[in-house]
Amino acid sequence: MTWIIGIILGVIAVTVAALPFLRKRGVGAEGSDPVRGLQERRQAIYQEIQLLQADMTVGQVSEQEYHDRLQAHRMAAALLVREEQRLVDLQQGLEEEVLAVRGKTKQDVTACPNCSRAAPRGAIQCPACGAALVEAASRG
Ligand SMILES: [Zn+2]
Repeated sequence: MTWIIGIILGVIAVTVAALPFLRKRGVGAEGSDPVRGLQERRQAIYQEIQLLQADMTVGQVSEQEYHDRLQAHRMAAALLVREEQRLVDLQQGLEEEVLAVRGKTKQDVTACPNCSRAAPRGAIQCPACGAALVEAASRG
């Protein structure tokens, strides 16, 4: 019976070894930037609409079919636009958060008036030169 366990272990080993490769290929197909991937899909829809309009011009599709398909394409494009906007908002939100964290870090540090080195806000003495940090001035 040990040969069964051997086969199972072998299959698991192969699957685990192949996973990063499969994931990487998946990411490569979608593109590293999800917004860009959505934009490309939207461009493809616009091309479909142009082809549809060309078909309509030469009379290959009926007016009814043209309108139905145009409506479907526009709805798909609108959904992609909404998804794009959501992703952009998400990314901007993250950037703002990062900036806020950076800003907060900056605010927690004050410059020593004597040696102009960074000192923690609220400190009585500069850790570098020992000069008194006047907190009363900032309190007003
Ligand atoms: Zn100092």
